[in-house]
Amino acid sequence: MECCEGKLLYGSLLSEKLKRQMKEEVEGYRANGLRVPRLDTILVGDDPSSLSYIRGKKKACEVVGIENVVHHLPADISQKGLEDVIFACNHNDACDGILLQMPLPDHLDANHAIFCIDVGKDVDGLTPLNVGRLYAGEPCFAPCTPLGILSILDAMGCAIDGARAVVVGRSRLVGNPVARLLQDRNATVTVCHSHTRRLRQITKEADILVAAVGVPQMIDHTYIKEGACVVDVGINRREDGHLCGDVNTEDVLPYVHMVTPVPKGVGPMTICALLMNTMRSYRLKVG
Ligand code: NDP
Repeated sequence: MECCEGKLLYGSLLSEKLKRQMKEEVEGYRANGLRVPRLDTILVGDDPSSLSYIRGKKKACEVVGIENVVHHLPADISQKGLEDVIFACNHNDACDGILLQMPLPDHLDANHAIFCIDVGKDVDGLTPLNVGRLYAGEPCFAPCTPLGILSILDAMGCAIDGARAVVVGRSRLVGNPVARLLQDRNATVTVCHSHTRRLRQITKEADILVAAVGVPQMIDHTYIKEGACVVDVGINRREDGHLCGDVNTEDVLPYVHMVTPVPKGVGPMTICALLMNTMRSYRLKVG
């Protein structure tokens, strides 16, 4: 199977493969005299992590051939100043996707700014209308990490239709939307959280287990059904400075069908899904 080493499914390899496919598609548009897809990213201030994320996204866009315009705004910009930039992107026909990098400085109202993004360009899937469409089962831009997780499960060769899926974590950005996407694909889904009783008993029934908890290596083999597809969303920093997930990968490995490693698992697929959404927006506009 592609993108794997043994039972480890590398999101990094999958994202490279999907980016190569998108690159070919963009080259096709260019060859036919069409404009290329464009993503506008809006960054307020100079938060080092945000600057690093923006650089990562820009590099990924360059690989695929998506134009990436960065609107780097001063940290003290007013709410109106920020929203004027968003509206300008909304009205620019050359712009297919808008990404507002979080977090915003404290004096700005992030929810109100997100609300201003044109739902047809909301490639991060954060506007209330997109969220509503997701839960209504209507066409929408799904948030990037959940979308990346679905691509990973497909690459694992996981039969989602009819599967028993358990998602540990119910956050707005990961747990809940991934549960919704799995349900759309006809899985029978249980969402667990910090108040769930007998968690092990529930996860042991899962053909698909998504761990989005934020507790280092909490999921060991005692939580796993033999042959399960396991996606480890967690990114936790250990005392020795290394990253680890919510799953004890080594411990579960003999029991799973496949599992994603941390790092190089879900993380790279999140950016890839942003590009996938931008391409989708472009196709909907250019036809
Ligand atoms: P949140 O903190 O928003 O949510 C964590 C969820 O886990 C909550 O629903 C919480 O329950 C639940 N939870 C916490 N402890 C337990 C427990 N002991 N047993 C069962 N459930 C528990 O985190 P996120 O969803 O934003 O992120 C989860 C992890 O994924 C983090 O490590 C984060 O860094 C990582 N992440 C990775 C991304 C990537 O691209 N790879 C992207 C986004 C996040 P309750 O609701 O009751 O509090």
